[in-house]
Amino acid sequence: MGRMQGKVAIVTGAAKGIGAATAKALAREGAKVVCSDLDEAGGQAIADAIANDGGEATFIRHDVVNEAAWEAVAQHAESRFGGLHVVVNNAGIAPEGGPIEEKTLASWQRTISVDLDSVFLGCKYGIRTIKKYTSKGGAGGSIVNISSILGLVGQPNASDYNAAKGGVRLLTKSAALECAEAGYNIRVNSVHPGYIDTPMVKDALNRGVVQGQSVGPNEMRELLIMLHPVGRLGIADEIANAVLFLASDEASFMTGSEVVVDGGYTTR
Ligand code: NAP
Repeated sequence: MGRMQGKVAIVTGAAKGIGAATAKALAREGAKVVCSDLDEAGGQAIADAIANDGGEATFIRHDVVNEAAWEAVAQHAESRFGGLHVVVNNAGIAPEGGPIEEKTLASWQRTISVDLDSVFLGCKYGIRTIKKYTSKGGAGGSIVNISSILGLVGQPNASDYNAAKGGVRLLTKSAALECAEAGYNIRVNSVHPGYIDTPMVKDALNRGVVQGQSVGPNEMRELLIMLHPVGRLGIADEIANAVLFLASDEASFMTGSEVVVDGGYTTR
């Protein structure tokens, strides 16, 4: 029996990177997965790949900053798969770097919207929907919010991303306490990846915006690797495995926790 048998999950940003790996991991363990993303071709391809492997998945186009769309995605999970137990708030963007004194309010607000407001909405509609399908002593629900090492430690030229991901960390704890006190049997935890080899990091390296330094992509990649004591960047499956554990009932005594998966980045 799979570790996610009987569970229905929504994974945002499921078209690529950490979201795609997470959707596949949850489905491999028996979850029925709603893959959501702005990238329709990529999201549909992941849902198809899951189905080809014998799993159950559907794709829905979803802008995570749109509140009405959240309602529709939650309803889609219920109508298609008969309930909802897990929401993985993964979709996010890596903003242009730059010092605070030069950052525009519009670019700050865009990052806060996609990387933090979206997680608030995912928690709001996740809790409202999941609580209908959980019971004390019975099947549990789980919300997993993807923060970052940059939700734990500061980085120059990343003020908006730092603020958003730090906000995700404490929003998670607030939601965890509300669910526990209400007796909803929904756990809420955050995951804090180090640098992971995904399209987001490849794009950022190509744009030269990582760590706010202006060096070429190869040199920047080597500098990033050196920040991880294990001597490499992470891969998406390594984050998906942590999310899978938190989503499953194996993590039944974990709520409000921050799971750091960073190759030792924040250990020094
Ligand atoms: P990725 O490779 O860029 O994938 C993110 C996906 O989210 C993309 O398919 C993207 O679609 C989608 N997305 C962006 N904005 C969206 C929106 N408004 N509504 C719906 N979907 C949207 O990113 P990743 O590296 O897998 O990162 C996933 C999460 O992990 C993010 O929250 C990121 O901040 C966090 N994280 C990543 C790292 C890392 O090193 N990779 C480290 C720490 C934390 P489009 O491509 O069409 O925009």
